[in-house]
Amino acid sequence: MSRFWSKTVQELTPYVPGEQPKLTQLIKLNTNESPYGPSPKAIAAISQANSELLRLYPDPNSDALKQCIARNYHLQANQVFVGNGSDEVLAHVFLGLLKHDKAILFPDITYSFYPVYCKLYGIDFETVPLNAEFAIDIKTYLGKANGGIIFPNPNAPTGRALALSDIRELLEHNTESVVVVDEAYVDFGTESASTLINQYHNLLVSHTLSKSRALAGLRVGYAMGHADLIAGLERVKNSFNSYPIDRLAMAGAIAAIDDQKHLETISSAVIKSREALIADLNQLGFETIPSQANFIFTCHPKHDAGQLAQALRERHIIVRHFKQTRIDQYLRITIGTDEQCAALVKALQAILA
Ligand SMILES: *Cc1c(COP(=O)(O)O)cnc(C)c1O
Repeated sequence: MSRFWSKTVQELTPYVPGEQPKLTQLIKLNTNESPYGPSPKAIAAISQANSELLRLYPDPNSDALKQCIARNYHLQANQVFVGNGSDEVLAHVFLGLLKHDKAILFPDITYSFYPVYCKLYGIDFETVPLNAEFAIDIKTYLGKANGGIIFPNPNAPTGRALALSDIRELLEHNTESVVVVDEAYVDFGTESASTLINQYHNLLVSHTLSKSRALAGLRVGYAMGHADLIAGLERVKNSFNSYPIDRLAMAGAIAAIDDQKHLETISSAVIKSREALIADLNQLGFETIPSQANFIFTCHPKHDAGQLAQALRERHIIVRHFKQTRIDQYLRITIGTDEQCAALVKALQAILA
């Protein structure tokens, strides 16, 4: 605390990202990064950079990247917004589309950045409890006056997904505020709501290259929606940072998004490992929520989750444990390579013995 801090800064509760340890030799299953590398075409595109390319500012509108995304999702370029990671995109969404007189709605258990943005921008929110199976029940959102609705699909950190028909039902009933579907994990087996964009003008869908495209280090995210929603986000962005996408990120992102084949290869490998890991953990007595993501959410009825996380850490495996009511007995474990999953299962066998 310093007397030079503004009142706003004094009152913030910043988001705490999963640890990025300086130690190598760790099995890092705590922040949902891909265990595989990005498209080799993305690396090749980034390597093309030279002094002339980097001397100049990038295109402030990132037109080539927007066109690439539009082409891949059958949209127009003016239906696409891009930012420095989807966290930045979401920050602009909160300020530009979710800050109204009425409180916004999101699940009680969800991406913990949402309440942080609310605090930063002075947005009221109300949480809507997940049901007993840790699923979002769309019915609980209907008929509630609100300034907007946001949730990840699949949800984080549970991994459970909603069907497209549920999202459509919500959009049919909730017509007076923006519905944001954060699809950070959509490529691991969920149908994208991006196909509904031309039908529902209050729908915004956000994506990231950090998870399924294995480019967390590049910091590129995007949102897709009606051109009027995108124009609102551009007004916020152009009041904040004119050049969020640097030239290396732009080149890498375009090559990565166009490499649909690589995406499918590494996503199906993760899905296969996920199902095998769930079976192995359940053999050890864990109870695991069905996951459509690149992580699982699991608990053991006879062992404290915090202690398990600590015991794994002592064996150089890091997983995520949230000290939050309702979920403090769960571990969120990122799907690693089959080798890493096997090491995790072996460590847990030893710990539980
Ligand atoms: C990882 C994640 C993001 C943010 O991803 P970026 O790396 O900032 O693009 C957004 N929403 C959810 C639910 C996430 O898990």
